[in-house]
Amino acid sequence: MIIDSHVHICEPPHNGSRLSRMNIDGSRVQWSDTRGDAAVCMLIEAMDGNGIDRALIMGLEGIVSNEYLGEVVAADPRLTGFAWVEDPKRPEAVGELETAVLDHGLSGLKLHPGLHSCSPSQPEVVPLIRSASELGVPVLIHCYPFPPGHYENNLPYHIDSLKKAVPEATIIVGHMGQVNYHDMLALVRHPGLVVETSWGLTLLAELNGLDYAARFLRRLGVEKAVYGSDWFGPNGEMERQLGLIERLDLTRDEKDMILGGNISRVMNP
Ligand SMILES: [Zn+2]
Repeated sequence: MIIDSHVHICEPPHNGSRLSRMNIDGSRVQWSDTRGDAAVCMLIEAMDGNGIDRALIMGLEGIVSNEYLGEVVAADPRLTGFAWVEDPKRPEAVGELETAVLDHGLSGLKLHPGLHSCSPSQPEVVPLIRSASELGVPVLIHCYPFPPGHYENNLPYHIDSLKKAVPEATIIVGHMGQVNYHDMLALVRHPGLVVETSWGLTLLAELNGLDYAARFLRRLGVEKAVYGSDWFGPNGEMERQLGLIERLDLTRDEKDMILGGNISRVMNP
C-alpha cells in the first residue's frame, strides 16, 4: 500500500487563477499552480496514475477550509485530513483544532512556521501541540526554509525543543528539513517522530547520489521515513520521488515501510 503523507488541495472555485493566500504577517504567498490544478478530482487522478492508495491532505485556510476538507474526507475513505488553525499562538487555536477533529472529522494538525510566522517551540504554541496529543492526532510541521524571510522559524532545532516540552506529541517533520536534512539524524532520536520526504530526499539524492540517499535513510532508520510528495497540482515531486525510492538500493520491505507501512502505524497506533 502506498500512502502519500503530505498533499494539498484547493476548494472551489476551481478556476485558472494562481493559488495564493495572505499570511499572518500581511505577506502574500503565491504558488505556480492554479486553483483548478489543485482540485480534489485532480489529486485523485494523480493518485490513480501513480498507484497511490491513500493520501493525507493538509488544511490551509484561505485555500482550503477545515469544513471543506471535512466534507472531502467524509466522501472518500482514501483521503485523510489535517486541520489548519488561523494563528497557533492564540489561545483560540485549541478550540479551532477541537472543532476540526471532533466536528469535521479531521485526523491531524498542520503547522507551518513560515506562513504562521512563529517557531513550533515558542511557549504560546505549546498548548496547541499538547491539545493535539490529547486528541490523539499527529502534527505535521513544515520544516523547509519557505517562504524566504522565515529561515529561522523553519530550523529543525525548534522541533527538538518542542519534543522536549511535549514528549508525548506525535510529530511528522515535513520535507526532511530540506536544506537542513542532516539535522533529521538528531531529531529521530525522539520517540514518536517520523520524517516526511518531499523535496528533502530529492534534494539530497540530487546533490549526493542514490547510494548516499540509501545510506542516509538507513542511518536515519528506514522505519522513521514516510513518503510524501507535497502535491499541490502537478508539481512533479510525486512521480520523481516514487521513481527515486524504487531505484534505491534498499530491500522491498524497507521501501514498503517508507512508502506506506510507517505512516500507517503513525495514523493507526
Ligand atoms: Zn504542506
